[in-house]
Amino acid sequence: MAIATINPATGELVKTFEPLNDTEIAAKLDLAQQAFEEYRNTNFEVRSHIQRKAADILEQEKADFAKIMTLEMGKTYKSAISEVEKCAAVCRYYAEHAPQFLADNYVKTDASQSYVKYQPLGIILAVMPWNFPFWQVFRFAAPALMAGNVGILKHASNVPQCALAIEDIFNRAGCPPGAFQTFLIGAAKVADIIAFNCVKAATLTGSEPAGMSLASAAGKQIKKTVLELGGSDPFIVLASADLETAATTAVAARMLNNGQSCIAAKRFIVEDAVADKFEKLLLEKFQALKVGDPMLPDTDIGPLATPDILKELDQQVQNAINSGAKVLIGGDKLEHPGNFYPPTIITDIDIDNATAQEEFFGPVAMLFRVPDINAAIKLANATPFGLGASAWTTDATQQQHLINEIEAGAVFINSMVKSDPRLPFGGIKRSGYGRELSIQGIHEFVNVKTVWVK
Ligand code: NAP
Repeated sequence: MAIATINPATGELVKTFEPLNDTEIAAKLDLAQQAFEEYRNTNFEVRSHIQRKAADILEQEKADFAKIMTLEMGKTYKSAISEVEKCAAVCRYYAEHAPQFLADNYVKTDASQSYVKYQPLGIILAVMPWNFPFWQVFRFAAPALMAGNVGILKHASNVPQCALAIEDIFNRAGCPPGAFQTFLIGAAKVADIIAFNCVKAATLTGSEPAGMSLASAAGKQIKKTVLELGGSDPFIVLASADLETAATTAVAARMLNNGQSCIAAKRFIVEDAVADKFEKLLLEKFQALKVGDPMLPDTDIGPLATPDILKELDQQVQNAINSGAKVLIGGDKLEHPGNFYPPTIITDIDIDNATAQEEFFGPVAMLFRVPDINAAIKLANATPFGLGASAWTTDATQQQHLINEIEAGAVFINSMVKSDPRLPFGGIKRSGYGRELSIQGIHEFVNVKTVWVK
């Protein structure tokens, strides 16, 4: 894919970028390694200062950063503003908490002194997706830099201006030259970069094929990886749920980021007793959504990020219809310039059909009806994914049962799934492995060194 800014709301090619050549890649890796030699010896005060300064820049210039995001990948401007604010918050969170997360941990043994020491690994490669073009990067970068690592970013090819803006933020925040660099390269170069001795580990957020490719390349070099991949999160509504709140949250959970979020609720699994009522509420709320220019404040849903995503989503919906699914609303591409798809609800989906197992990356809700909680859990778990799950019931016994039995990296009761710097984030099954955020996130890319003094 060419490295370029193409406005998804209009299809206009705004700017193209030349990818780095091999000589430039090698020079940038040298610079990163030199930066590491200096940066690894900085103390937490210095690192925290950089993160706080990055947060200040993000907050002061959020309008500019939000505009770049909306221009390059089509999220609504108001959601882009929130994304920048969240990035500032994660920088401040790790500036404050990393010293405690990485403090020497003394353990009583028969040694005179024994403890666990956390040391940086070196250059960490981050391969990132376009859907939260700032947040995905900052939630990697803040803990990695606080731990004393240096970062290189291979961002998605459709968000080069976001990638360059992030590098600039860290430079202006006081990172030593080379401590956080953007590499404008295509996906085909990732395996070559992992093979460099100086690159110690990698993290990828994106699709399954990309995750498999990166993990295989890293596996050949015995290098650690964290993978944050796709999801087809269930949103379970049981009979005792507050239906109005559940339906309002269902819309937010499905439509977040124009429907292109890994942790979006994608499969709505509703107990028969309340299914008619929930369906009606959901339909009314979908009907009220406004699709249009992502820069306008009253727009709920902007365009999908690329024509390929639009094509794939449309194909998935058509496959579902061809295998017997019914459309309650939407169900066809909008005849409009740009990559617009309408809010869509499909029901009567054959659960044995491949469609029911797939991730729909756009504003499409799949609605299922089940007789009881056990059938809901069975269906919720019947996908290859295991990222997040949202479940709605006021019954405490049912809540515990859901928490215990749902196969996912996160279960949210009476709330939508969201990431929060204070809590770990990540998946199981084909949604990936490893965790980001919280103390678990910062421990992914460190040498957990055992120290024993006789
Ligand atoms: P994608 O095609 O996998 O792209 C993600 C990144 O991987 C891009 O930088 C891409 O570069 C790169 N890439 C693609 N193929 C690669 C390969 N073979 N080897 C190395 N790198 C490769 O993903 P997407 O379709 O843009 O993003 C949507 C997916 O990401 C969805 O499945 C979504 O659920 C998932 N996601 C997961 C999380 C999470 O935290 N679990 C968060 C957000 C998104 P190019 O752009 O140059 O191709």
